[in-house]
Amino acid sequence: MIYLDNAATKATLDIVKQKMKPFLNEYYANPSSNYRFAKKCREAIEKVRNDIAGMLNVMPEEIYFTSGGTESDNWAIKNTAFANKEKGKHIISSRIEHHAVLNSLKYLESIGYEVSYARVMENGMVDVNHIKKLIRTDTTLITCMMSNNETGVIQPIKEIGRLAKKSNITFHTDAVQSFGHNQIDCKELNVDLLSASAHKFGGPKGVGFLYISDKCNTFPYIHGGSQERNMRGGTSNVAGIVGMGVAAVTANENMEAWGSKTRSLRDYMAYRLLKEIPYSRINGDMNYRLDNNINISFQYVNGFTLLELLDAKGICASGASACNSMQKEPSHVLRAMGLPDEIAVGTIRLTLSESNTKEEIDETIKEIKNIVSNLREIQ
Ligand SMILES: *Cc1c(COP(=O)(O)O)cnc(C)c1O
Repeated sequence: MIYLDNAATKATLDIVKQKMKPFLNEYYANPSSNYRFAKKCREAIEKVRNDIAGMLNVMPEEIYFTSGGTESDNWAIKNTAFANKEKGKHIISSRIEHHAVLNSLKYLESIGYEVSYARVMENGMVDVNHIKKLIRTDTTLITCMMSNNETGVIQPIKEIGRLAKKSNITFHTDAVQSFGHNQIDCKELNVDLLSASAHKFGGPKGVGFLYISDKCNTFPYIHGGSQERNMRGGTSNVAGIVGMGVAAVTANENMEAWGSKTRSLRDYMAYRLLKEIPYSRINGDMNYRLDNNINISFQYVNGFTLLELLDAKGICASGASACNSMQKEPSHVLRAMGLPDEIAVGTIRLTLSESNTKEEIDETIKEIKNIVSNLREIQ
């Protein structure tokens, strides 16, 4: 099998599994209990909080553990909206957000909030000038992702953060595709809330975190026990959190090396695909882009058929995103970028990791070339 779908999820790192194991075996205490046996679990959790806070240049008390990116996005968006409703009910976002964000916003619209969606440029970047124009006195939240999960395009977060700060608006960023892959400094970027998810950077599934700046006006999200500073009740996912911490530290230590290895494989693959397959195009800016992403359209080919035939050869890739792949609808992201539907339907996303080899990439290029040329012939 050749795995080229690392934006959907990344394989759990071996070191992560190793370090999680004791917390599935001998250290099974409830971390909230008072005896010494529970202290080991509590300390392990707090170490992760410290490590992650250090990477983001924030305080450990500002990191809250969640069940993943979707929960973090829901928490950030709904709670900011609720907490500031006296000030206003207007929110600004973009058309290329993940559905965890878009559907949270849709829900808020259904209960009386108003959302303005900023335009996206042809290169896949949110138009900051449009965001600026959308700001109103009753705007309480701007939510814009740090990098897009379909195109890998890195968004102008620093500029948006500056705008938000100047206008005294809370700024949330979904950094699920960026955390563990790129350095992030929440202070420098003026980010007030940041979502991340462990399984996108080599940790286990079902665990993530939300950074909430202490300056934010927020209140409990999950009502229950006093875990997570009374903000999110429920017994902590000890092994999951430990695994996420190990993944974060490992990803951070290897960021340069893994990034450059992935990038050179990606560039090689992109170059050959474009050169050797006529009527192909890469969507999204090539310079402001995650190291692992190729979003490529083949004209006169159906992307779903192409993916099925690749799957038959043992190659895992996706369409727009894992979450949309069942819908067979052209991607909302490519649409927002102005790509015509007839080209968007011929699009696949290949997302690499440092574990991929040149042999795997060569094999995949060969198969894509064959399949595309066969599909075009029978057309
Ligand atoms: C994967 C992803 C999510 C959802 O994260 P889960 O942990 O799977 O819930 C949210 N936003 C982006 C950009 C993602 O890529």
